[in-house]
Parts: sequence; C-alpha cells; structure tokens
Amino acid sequence: MELKQLYREIVNEHNLHPSHKGTMQDPTLVLRGVNPSCGDDINLQLKIENDVITDAMFEGSGCAISQASVDMMIDDILGKSRDEALDLAGKFMGMIRGTATEDDLEELDEAAALSDVSHMPARVKCAVLGWHTMEQALAEV
Ligand code: ZN
Repeated sequence: MELKQLYREIVNEHNLHPSHKGTMQDPTLVLRGVNPSCGDDINLQLKIENDVITDAMFEGSGCAISQASVDMMIDDILGKSRDEALDLAGKFMGMIRGTATEDDLEELDEAAALSDVSHMPARVKCAVLGWHTMEQALAEV
C-alpha cells in the first residue's frame, strides 16, 4: 500500500471511529478550541494527576482532519507528563512546517499521517487545532 493511501486510511479511521470522543467525569482542565475558517469546534478535556496526563477526551465536530488530529493527539499524550506532551506538540508543529526529523515522525506515531498537511496551507489550522488547544490548556495550570 502506498504511504499516502495508508495515511489517508489512518485519518479516516480516527475520524469515523474515534477512540477518545465523549464526556469525561471530573476533568482537571477543559478548554474549547475553535477554527472559524473551517467550522471545527472541539472541547478538550484533560485529567492530570501528579503532572501526568492520565486521561483525555474530546467532544465536538468539524472536518475529518481536525477530528482525526485530536483523536491521534490523545493517543500520543496519554500517560505523558505535561512537558513531554508540550514537547510532542512542538514536534507536531515542526512536522506541519515541514521541519520534522525521521525520529520526530516516529515519536508522533499515527499523528504523522497528517504530515502531508505541510503541503496544504488551507488545512493547517484544522490539523493543529487539537494541539494548540492542549498547549493553551496546559499553559493555564
Ligand atoms: Zn477543518
């Protein structure tokens, strides 16, 4: 299977069957993220215990890229410390700018399926919405 096709299927799968969509009981942090240019709207809920993200969920609606991106992000940040999660966010932003290394992509795991967005300027805000929302939520701690 071609890599591009594989990436497309990963994004579709996370969009159609998100693992982390829903409402959390008792989250530590809740922050809404909106991308008006596309109509993407998410509500990110994080549970943080002893500086570790022990649970995360999102609600919302929007295009496939925005919804898949936040679902894949949650896969990446679960069990990570605040600093580790912010470091991953930096690597994701680097990927979108086209400056990520092979090691960065490996660490981003399935979220690397959005690497093509670096060639799609109109979709950048969709892809980074979840990550920006997480960064802002963690900055409030
Ligand atoms: Zn979008």
